Amino acid sequence: MFTPARKSMPPIDYVSIVRSVYENRRAMLLGALVCILGTLAGAVKTGSPIFWALTAGFVLLTIYRYVDMTLFQRVEIRPSDIDTAARWELRATYGAAAWATLAGLWCFSCFAVVRDPSTEIIAMVATIGCLVGIVARNFGLDRMLTIQLGIVAAFVAIGLLLRNDPYHWVLAAFMLPMLVSYRFLAADVRAILLAAVHGRVEASRLADELDTALDTMQHGLCMLDKDGTIAVVNERVLAIFAQLAPSDWQGKPFRDFIGAAMASGTLAPDCAEELLRSNGKHAASKVMLRLDKERNYEVTVSSDYGRTVLLFEDISERVKAADRITFMARYDALTGLPNRGYFTEQVETDLARWHNRQTTEMVTLMIIDVDDFKHVNDTQGHLIGDRLLIEAAERLRQALGDRSIIARLGGDEFIVYRAGAQTDEQVMGDAHTVMAAFRAPFGLMGEHLSINVSIGTVTSGIRDDDLSTLMTKADLALYKAKSRGKAQYQMFRDDMDVDYRYRQRLKAELREAIAGGGLSLAYQPVIDIKTKKVVGCEALARWHHPELGTIPPSVFIPIAEESGLVSEISRWVLATATAECQNWPENVGVAVNISAKDLRAGDVAQMVNTALASSGLPPHRLEIEVTETAVIEEREAATLIFKTLTAQGIGIALDDFGTGYSSLSYLQALPFTKLKIDRSFVRDIADSPRSLKLLSNVAQLGKDIGLTITAEGIETEEQLALVAAHTNIDQIQGYLFGVPLPRREVFELIVRLSNAPPESTAASKRKHG
Ligand code: C2E
Ligand code: MG
Ligand code: MG
Repeated sequence: MFTPARKSMPPIDYVSIVRSVYENRRAMLLGALVCILGTLAGAVKTGSPIFWALTAGFVLLTIYRYVDMTLFQRVEIRPSDIDTAARWELRATYGAAAWATLAGLWCFSCFAVVRDPSTEIIAMVATIGCLVGIVARNFGLDRMLTIQLGIVAAFVAIGLLLRNDPYHWVLAAFMLPMLVSYRFLAADVRAILLAAVHGRVEASRLADELDTALDTMQHGLCMLDKDGTIAVVNERVLAIFAQLAPSDWQGKPFRDFIGAAMASGTLAPDCAEELLRSNGKHAASKVMLRLDKERNYEVTVSSDYGRTVLLFEDISERVKAADRITFMARYDALTGLPNRGYFTEQVETDLARWHNRQTTEMVTLMIIDVDDFKHVNDTQGHLIGDRLLIEAAERLRQALGDRSIIARLGGDEFIVYRAGAQTDEQVMGDAHTVMAAFRAPFGLMGEHLSINVSIGTVTSGIRDDDLSTLMTKADLALYKAKSRGKAQYQMFRDDMDVDYRYRQRLKAELREAIAGGGLSLAYQPVIDIKTKKVVGCEALARWHHPELGTIPPSVFIPIAEESGLVSEISRWVLATATAECQNWPENVGVAVNISAKDLRAGDVAQMVNTALASSGLPPHRLEIEVTETAVIEEREAATLIFKTLTAQGIGIALDDFGTGYSSLSYLQALPFTKLKIDRSFVRDIADSPRSLKLLSNVAQLGKDIGLTITAEGIETEEQLALVAAHTNIDQIQGYLFGVPLPRREVFELIVRLSNAPPESTAASKRKHG
């Protein structure tokens, strides 16, 4: 017939409805008073003991219910504690049922027993009045209400029916619709009230959830009212606002906040302007907000219905990653200096800035190359090589960083750009500053290394040359500086440009010369110091240019190396020289020069073997000459190649000893068979006893490790006599015995010297030199 309230509604509602039943003691007392007075009036008027008994019953019930209600006030029922609530509902139901029974009996007695019209009216009015109050108070507990209504209606109906009067029967019949309509009424009130309560609860739940959502969301959110007041802010936005301008900004104009943030210097004016401008715009716009170096926000501002929402997205990590990528793209990872690309960008921007000004100022470009860096890398290891570059970059920064743009071009090359008033003296001053900066030895991981740099510079009117031209010119100057030896500084001169063009022309024409037979070989005899007989000849390449005349190998060999043609030359020289040697007496060998690039290409052994195979020359008659610099540049390849060649009986000579590092460690580590001491050691021996001593010592060092020693550049009888008397040198080479000669002439010389007695050597020189 009815569903218990505890099952038909949520616990929270059920508990509060049970509580409402117990809440209004005053209404209960008022209803009880009406009943007590009503029954008392009946008792006084009719003297019926029934009324007296009912009065007593009402008084006792009122006391019981009052005490029960008071007791309820003391217990705390939690919203979820429906069992306790159900117990109290039952107690209330007992009380209500007791009241209904008394009221029903009252009416029943009036109609069926006492039959006094005035008491009947009092009883009915009081009971129905109380029932209205009961519906209003107990609407939530359908069971209790139905029990009360049922009991009252039953007693009243029976009492009326017992009157034997159709009108009273009609009245009794009214009890049923009254019962039903009261129940419906209660159900309606219950539904309306619960809906209202639920609506409020739902609204507050939604508000709570929105708050939680706003405070847990990753982004900061701020909503402005139609008039620009800050209406809604979440925790994140509060934190951002606090950093920009500490205050409680909620409810205050957004414009005031922006003003305060600008005034405190935390918000850049352009950013502030943009924020204010975006506010109220219909289309969403994005504003970058930089709080400090670390924190960056992207603020999306969107407006609709007159309100503006600002969404703050923390993009610090994204910005940091982008910064890192930009840094990696622009800077050299090892030294932290700008790389070539970024340097170009910066300098071109700077040059463009100057371009539109009427100025006579100058611009300077300086290319700095660390001398012998490869040597450091090879001998000390790459770790020390890296440290050296880092330290070099630091020294450059300290020397010129305040007035120049410094970058690492790559490898061991640095570049410095400086614009502004420049005289040659200033440029030279800068170069000397750099040289001085490198003067102190480098302390690298416990090693102390002395490092030099070569510098090429160019100075030009600030609007005269573009960067690429400037770089070419500085490169030409550097090339010149390096060709003069180590630790040199060179300023670009216009004739270098001519040199450059000349070299470019040679480069272009050399390939043709190699293919078209433009090269020839000259042979310079090497003499045994004791027998004065030719023991071998060094093959030296010659280029006879149809227009430019004879081009020396010191010019075209480096060009061939640069343009990758040197291997072709070596292959041709090897083939030609070994074939030519076959024409000479058996005890005369031939020496061929090879370059670092040949070692790098790695096919020297194959080239040699091809030449030997096609000429039929025995390997022991061939000697390969290589300079110290080439060995240093390609140390690993050289070791392998030399081992292969010496194993076949081919000689390996270290050429021009004394012009490179003069390092004996190479001599010992590599399988050389001969040491050729450079002519710079011979040049002064006639005038300087110290030079003679040095030559003698160097020769002895070579001898000690079992090498054959050749002195280069013997030009005079006096030099020959000193070498013969004071050194351990085995062989000599130089203009005294013969300049490099064409094949026919050298053959005649070999034959003549082979047949001549020892003392005729000088005469032979005079004849052929
Ligand atoms: P190098 O191997 O040291 O050759 C000796 C150079 O010294 C030759 O110069 C020779 O003419 C010169 N010379 C010989 N005796 C004297 C002397 O008494 N006084 C003076 N002042 N000079 C003397 P050249 O022919 O101009 O060759 C220069 C360099 O070019 C050679 O030095 C060699 O390193 C290189 N070279 C020559 N031909 C070839 C070649 O076919 N291949 C390679 N890779 N390099 C070559
Ligand atoms: Mg040589
Ligand atoms: Mg030499």
